[in-house]
Amino acid sequence: MNISQIEHIGIAVNSIDESRKYYEEVLGLECYKIEEVADQKVRTAFFRIGEVKIELLEPTSPESTIAKFLEKKGQGVHHIAYAVAEVNEALKDVEAKGIQLIDKAGRKGAENLNIGFLHPKFTEGVLTELCSK
Ligand code: ZN
Repeated sequence: MNISQIEHIGIAVNSIDESRKYYEEVLGLECYKIEEVADQKVRTAFFRIGEVKIELLEPTSPESTIAKFLEKKGQGVHHIAYAVAEVNEALKDVEAKGIQLIDKAGRKGAENLNIGFLHPKFTEGVLTELCSK
């Protein structure tokens, strides 16, 4: 597997409308997109810093994994996403190394990316997302 860069850092928030003020007014970043991913029951907001993005994740349903994360841990870093050439190949690659996958195959995520998550029990405590265009 060949990781080219950190694609984005996902941060779980209770409310994008509330949290974006910090990113915009304090950090001076610009939110260039808000996108709902119905599939994952989340609303996302994106900020770009150079090649890397910050993705705020707000649950749109109590069944959302983000809602469960917020309940358990509160607001904070939820996952790190690494850019790879082809997500399905990368997932196979890590699975062959004994890493349990949440997604056996890539699925459509925000920003039109193909994404797949690795199980955090196998990734030293950090939920890891692989993604490709
Ligand atoms: Zn993500």
